[in-house]
Amino acid sequence: MKKNLTILILSALAILIVVGIEIFLVTRIYRLETEKFDYRYREILQKGLAYIDKRGDNRGLASAYYFLNGQSLKVLPLYIPESSDTVKFKEVVLKGFHKTLVQKQNLDSLLTGYLKKMKVETTFQSNFSITNLVLFDNQKVVKVFNKVSDSAWTYPDTLNIRLNQIPVNHYSYYADHFEIGIDYYVDFNNKKSIVLKEVAGSLLIAFLALAAVSLIFLFSMRNLMEERRLSQLKTDFINNMTHELKTPLSTISIATRTLENDTILDDRAKIKETVSVIRRQNRQLTKQINHLLEISMWERKQFSLDRRMLDLEPFFFGLAEAFRWECNEKQCKLEERFTFITKTAYLDEVQMTVALHNLLINAVKYNSQDPEVILEVSCDDRLRISVTDNGIGIGKEDQKHIFDKFYRVSTGNVHKVKGLGLGLFYVKQIVEAHGGSIDVSSRPGKGSTFTLILPVHGKNQNSPG
Ligand code: ADP
Repeated sequence: MKKNLTILILSALAILIVVGIEIFLVTRIYRLETEKFDYRYREILQKGLAYIDKRGDNRGLASAYYFLNGQSLKVLPLYIPESSDTVKFKEVVLKGFHKTLVQKQNLDSLLTGYLKKMKVETTFQSNFSITNLVLFDNQKVVKVFNKVSDSAWTYPDTLNIRLNQIPVNHYSYYADHFEIGIDYYVDFNNKKSIVLKEVAGSLLIAFLALAAVSLIFLFSMRNLMEERRLSQLKTDFINNMTHELKTPLSTISIATRTLENDTILDDRAKIKETVSVIRRQNRQLTKQINHLLEISMWERKQFSLDRRMLDLEPFFFGLAEAFRWECNEKQCKLEERFTFITKTAYLDEVQMTVALHNLLINAVKYNSQDPEVILEVSCDDRLRISVTDNGIGIGKEDQKHIFDKFYRVSTGNVHKVKGLGLGLFYVKQIVEAHGGSIDVSSRPGKGSTFTLILPVHGKNQNSPG
């Protein structure tokens, strides 16, 4: 158990590590793809700007500079000496310059035209960010803004650069009354979806790898549990078998010792009784060994049904009669409810007797009060047989396994009722070999009902196993 738990923890840890690595790789790939996108488009846009400049199309910026020169002449005389209001004043000037730049330039439409020509992504937004602004005339110089030295400033919102924008170009311009430095940024609206499309392949592979690892993990866990369950079953079976074989053997050994005793040689009755004990125990031993031989024969697929048209009425009445006789001494009541619309069915009489006998015997064996058993049989287009008892019942979890080979409901290490966990396994094999099915419904403490449904004209004569 401890070993299994360690394997479980180690496997879960391994999966967590794989998930961690995959998240790391995918985010890295996403970042690299974003960088690749930025790099590619910066190159395209810069080529575009060079092309536009070469053709002398970019008259927008020139007109903005011209206009700003006039503006600076108006602003200079308003310059107020250093005070708490200075910052506010500079902010107003900076915003005014930025606004004029954005309004007067026509770079965006020129660049869109270029991008269309290059047949690449064309929907973008641009932004001018002023990095440096100085106003001057013959007497004074007004340093309005410098991105490096004025970093303590609250940068005006309109100039803010978003993280995913691509810095395309830097312009610096020196006019009669002002000097300005500008960064030109571009932000593609569909950048995220384009990059995601590029990453989709890697994402899919990562997801598939993760799914495969998880499946392998689940599969291994299931195998491990199954192995554990089988090993437990094996141990239980060996314990039960030892018990089943040892009891008759020790009885035979005591009986033999009794016969060796000279004092009973004259007591014919005692001798007869002891011999009959030996015979009974011997029969019990033979039965158990035959049980095992049959199972091993089935496993080698040497088992086949011997099906004939069986008259149902005499078969079931005979079965009920034999059972009533068998459990006479156990204060057992058997109720028969038979409805035969179809009177015959294609069955193996011997195997069906074994199967139904197992069910009836279990109804008595697993019962802590006076057993009351109902054998209900109806036959029309299908043969439906159910055995209901007022026994100890079977829990939901055990119901899933009672038809497994060697499975016995756990009652701790001590089994009050003898058995090898083969009876119901047998029943299921026989029913399925007839092309039928078996089901159980049960409530602990209330009793159980086992229901068999069989075809009347079975065509597929299967072998179990
Ligand atoms: P065995 O009786 O030899 O143990 P079976 O295959 O006949 O093996 O039954 C498997 C287990 O199912 C039994 O150990 C018992 O716990 C449970 N069982 C079977 N029939 C009944 C029943 N009618 N009522 C309660 N428990 C049952």
